[in-house]
Amino acid sequence: MNKPTIPYISAKKPGDPGAVCPHCESRASIRHSLALTPLIRHIRYRCDNDDCGHVFVAELVVIRTCVMSAIPKGSIDIPFSPRTAALPMPANDAAPEPANDDRDDAAIAGDTDAMT
Ligand SMILES: [Zn+2]
Repeated sequence: MNKPTIPYISAKKPGDPGAVCPHCESRASIRHSLALTPLIRHIRYRCDNDDCGHVFVAELVVIRTCVMSAIPKGSIDIPFSPRTAALPMPANDAAPEPANDDRDDAAIAGDTDAMT
């Protein structure tokens, strides 16, 4: 495996997607970001090297799921990573229909008008 030519810079704080200036390879800080879609975000960075000062836009794209959300949104379709796809689904992933789903709640509450 080839080593990357651009150094990896870890985030300053959790959730901060660190970036490297493509010109001087110094760390770059986020100045602004804009969500284009739920899966694509444009991020404006400024190089932390004051002698450089490069300002650039990078694109952040969600490309795969490593751990499935506990509250998935139906409109979001993200492929699973090969490792995640090989894992068994949680036991609570099925949504069985309740056995008492066809009951008449009004009749149970004693509302006799609802039964006529
Ligand atoms: Zn720079």
